[in-house]
Formats: sequence, C-alpha cells, structure tokens
Amino acid sequence: MPVFDQLTHLQFPQLGVKGAYVELRGSLAELPAYGNYRPLAQALLGEALAAAALLHANVKGKSRISVQLQSRSALRLLYAECSESGEVRGLIQSQPGSDAPPLNQLGANAALAITLESRSEGERSGTRYQGLVPLVGERLDQALEHYFASSEQLPTALLLAADAQCARGLLIQKMPSNAAQQLLAEDFDADGWNRTRLLMETLTAAELLAADRDTVLRRLFHEEQLALVDGLRLRFGCTCSQQRVEAMFRGLGRSEAMLALEDGVASVRCEFCDRLYRFDRVDLEALFHPLSQPASDVQQ
Ligand SMILES: [Zn+2]
Repeated sequence: MPVFDQLTHLQFPQLGVKGAYVELRGSLAELPAYGNYRPLAQALLGEALAAAALLHANVKGKSRISVQLQSRSALRLLYAECSESGEVRGLIQSQPGSDAPPLNQLGANAALAITLESRSEGERSGTRYQGLVPLVGERLDQALEHYFASSEQLPTALLLAADAQCARGLLIQKMPSNAAQQLLAEDFDADGWNRTRLLMETLTAAELLAADRDTVLRRLFHEEQLALVDGLRLRFGCTCSQQRVEAMFRGLGRSEAMLALEDGVASVRCEFCDRLYRFDRVDLEALFHPLSQPASDVQQ
C-alpha cells in the first residue's frame, strides 16, 4: 500500500498572497536509495523533492516539474521531480564517500535548472520550459527564492528542510498585482505581502522540520485569514517501463545495443526505483526486427 503525503495550498484572500506547504514522509520511505545517501546529500534531495512538489502547486493541467543540479564537484547530479499525478522521484549521484557541499561552493560549471513540461489532453509531446537558477547562497531554498524574485519577478519566500525521515517545505508568493481588483476589494490589505514575508523570516529550517504543518502555520499566521485547500496527494512513483527501456535500446541502434550483452544478458537498472530490466540476445534482436516492433509509447 503506497503511503500518501499531502500538498496543501495556502490562500490569504485579503492579502494578495498565496502559498503551499508540503510534508514528504511516506514518499521518502518508499524511495529506494534515500537511506543510502550521506546526510547532507540526503537532506538536499529531500529538499529538492519538497521544492518540486511546492512548485507544482502553481501549475495547472498535465505538467511535470523537475529540479536538476549538475556540477563537476563531488556532487555530480541532483534530480527531483513531481508529476501531475503526484508521483515524486529523485536521485543523487556523487563521488563515493563524499557528501554534498554548500551550493555556492559547487564551482563555476555547476548549473541548477527548473523544468516544466506540460501536455494538453491527447497530446503526445507537450511544451517544455526551462529556467536556469543562479546558485545564490548555500542553500537550495535561497537559490530558488532569488530566482523567483529576479527572473519571474514574483516576490517569493521559501523555506525547505529535510532529514532521514521527513522533508518539509513552505512557500509563499505575492500574487501578480491587479490594481483594479485591489481597489474594489474593500478589505484588501496592501501591506499583506510584506507582513507575511517578515513572518516567514522568523522561522528557521530547523523549526520547520521540527513541527507539524498546523503548528507552524498557527505560529506564523495566527492573526491572518488563511484558508487551507488540499492539493496533490503525493507518493513515490517511477515512470520507467519495459517499453521505455526497449525504446532506449532501439535508440542506441542494433550494434550498440548488442554491446550491452554481458554473459548473454543486457541488464538495465532504473536508478530511481531500483527495478531491473533484463534482455537476452533474442529479446534484443526482436527489438530490431521490423515485424516485432510494436507502436509502443516511447515518450519519456
Ligand atoms: Zn524506475
């Protein structure tokens, strides 16, 4: 039985502020490699997964959000994604025995990106938008907060925290101002954004991690009118499949694919879910035989 985690939308109707809160617990427990990472790398992956879920609160329709960091330092790759069905998955690749350094020490070649892939009903391939996030500050939440404030021009406050059991994230964002609407709304509080942002600044990552959702929200916003709305139910899930591995081999071409055979078996292990796919020579040959090629879904 999958254990679901919950994404919660936060609405401050009088303040022109919206937000989201997420706690990942079951999803991390189900993520096969999560327990194997060094503490800082583990926390970074937990935070990136929480960030992907929080960012998904702002998108509509069939969309997948991913947070990806690559560098030539000890931390080679960080990847976290959240799909429209609430499936989260992620991984870290690092040099053996090394932990994750602060983000602003990853070196000049490090790159952090947020990618939004969205698809309309019935569409096989959709649109892809990627934003490059400058590595400002030591922490992932600092970099993302800076990114939204500068490139998206959406003032944002974001706090992320994770340990071996749990990842939590809290995001608030100033809604695009609509002057006419604000004039019409008698109870609109023009100082709302500044106040909620300052309240957020009183919370540390350690405090976010130590307390549950209602305790944190009550502590910060007990004097504000705040509505909580359930968002995505989240759980660990992987999109790998037999068809996708077959498509990968077809993409390599027959001779390259055959090079993967070791003792007569080509094995592919999914790094996200640890599932093992095995192909013998006959299986591989069949992939390149025109009559056996089904119209399979090769979409990633
Ligand atoms: Zn998988």
